[in-house]
Amino acid sequence: MNILVAKKRSNIIRNNKIENKDICFKCNGKLDEFFVCKTCGNNSYISAKQRITHISDENTFKELSFNKIDISKKCNYEDRINKAKENTDLNEAIIIGTCSIGGIKVVLGVMESKFMMGTLSVSVGETITSAFEYASVNKLPVILFCASGGARIQEGVFSLVQMAKVNAAIKRHSDKGLLYISCLTNPTMGGVTASFGLLGDINIAEKNSQIGFAGKSIIENLYNEILDSNFQTEQYNENNGMIDIIADRKDIRNILLDLLKMINNNNKVVRIDNKDENKSKTNDDLLETLKNARDIDRFKGKDYLISIFDKYIELKGDRINSNDTSILSGIGNIENKSFIFNIQNKGRTLKENRETNYGLTRPEGYRKALRISKIAEKFNIPIINIIDSAGADPSIYSEKNGQAIAIADCLYTFSDLKTIIISIVVGEGSSGGALALSVCDSIGMLQKSIYTVISPESYLKIMHKEEQVSNELLKSMRFTANDLFEDKIIDEVISESDNLNYNANNIKNFILNKYEILRKQDIQELINNRYERIRNWDIVAKGE
Ligand SMILES: [Zn+2]
Repeated sequence: MNILVAKKRSNIIRNNKIENKDICFKCNGKLDEFFVCKTCGNNSYISAKQRITHISDENTFKELSFNKIDISKKCNYEDRINKAKENTDLNEAIIIGTCSIGGIKVVLGVMESKFMMGTLSVSVGETITSAFEYASVNKLPVILFCASGGARIQEGVFSLVQMAKVNAAIKRHSDKGLLYISCLTNPTMGGVTASFGLLGDINIAEKNSQIGFAGKSIIENLYNEILDSNFQTEQYNENNGMIDIIADRKDIRNILLDLLKMINNNNKVVRIDNKDENKSKTNDDLLETLKNARDIDRFKGKDYLISIFDKYIELKGDRINSNDTSILSGIGNIENKSFIFNIQNKGRTLKENRETNYGLTRPEGYRKALRISKIAEKFNIPIINIIDSAGADPSIYSEKNGQAIAIADCLYTFSDLKTIIISIVVGEGSSGGALALSVCDSIGMLQKSIYTVISPESYLKIMHKEEQVSNELLKSMRFTANDLFEDKIIDEVISESDNLNYNANNIKNFILNKYEILRKQDIQELINNRYERIRNWDIVAKGE
């Protein structure tokens, strides 16, 4: 490394100790209390101990000591590990203990990137595994801050198998319905990303973090090409569906606190507003209804997200290859009660339309909704699905990426997902793309929305060879809220106007009223009733 560059680094080894410097290594600007540059916003090095001070409530951290398995002598790198111990004042590349965050007790582990690059040794693996076992017994959530170059190659295959060992303990912890949040910081690579790094129920990435599997320079050498500066950044990982939340370092504690509160929230809703009985009939002019349901100025999913929830955190990504913005998923509060949400969003401006693919959901959107819904099942949080889509994305891309199986998986999994599911159609609910979010315990429709098997134009083309949509031909489709209420496909027509708050309030009341009724059923009863409901959807068709 060039000596001049080395001197600029914000952390330097002085008298063999690693210390923070108070200036940014990128621009020489001053650092704030979180070691983030006040000028350019770049994150400087933060030690594991400093991280613990930032995250935990004051004086609550108590280190957990488990069996230390030091094989450095056997593996011939005793000198290096002794040097690392001396430089960092730590025994290994991780500190784990219990502490409270906003009064909530957790197990908190922080990896130290300056201890042999935070590599995963037998001792580190053993510590993390023991910590998950401890958390399982004591029913505690686990929060890990990852910072690692990967497996510690000095320990050979002993290091490699730690990945499997830690993950087996995480699986057991998860099976007990306990929460694990992974915070990926700079850098998180190799065997850590490929084991516990990305396995959080929720993954948070700190800004300015390199996150990946193979090192960038290794890939560049292998393929003889220069990768762009976005490669393996936190944004790159979010775009590829691996990360729920990107956060500034100073905000991570508050995000953790919000998540801990929302996920462990068992508040019961007691408020039930009187239903709005003023349900005018849906417009008889079906052409008008169709136009209205698709109106660009009609309130969209995001409008309802903002106005129904008192507070929410969006969770992103399908953990496979992407984050589909036509569905907004996450966790939020209504009247102090937590709900998981999957909200189809078309956007209202041309820019938003493009960003959300005009509300045409891709396979990764359905996969994200399912992933987030499984979090709801694990923590017994009710789900709200809001539907507004002209259908599933019919592109070559989506076809190749498994659109059909993604929808089928939703229908299959939602049919017995062990938590309450409430769905609302707020605009256009068309085809399997809408049905995927309609398998639920109760479904309502805004008065002027529509719900169809296929777009009316395609229907008429196929059924009647008609190009021109007419009122007469549309009648047989029975897609209005009133038709579907009569046909017992939906449970309630929700009154609407051109006032967002009025609509949002009515939707909120629908959700809370239905939740209040549904929560009195035990899980098996709920699932049985959901099955009966799906079985009986054809009663009207049979003419009974
Ligand atoms: Zn700077």
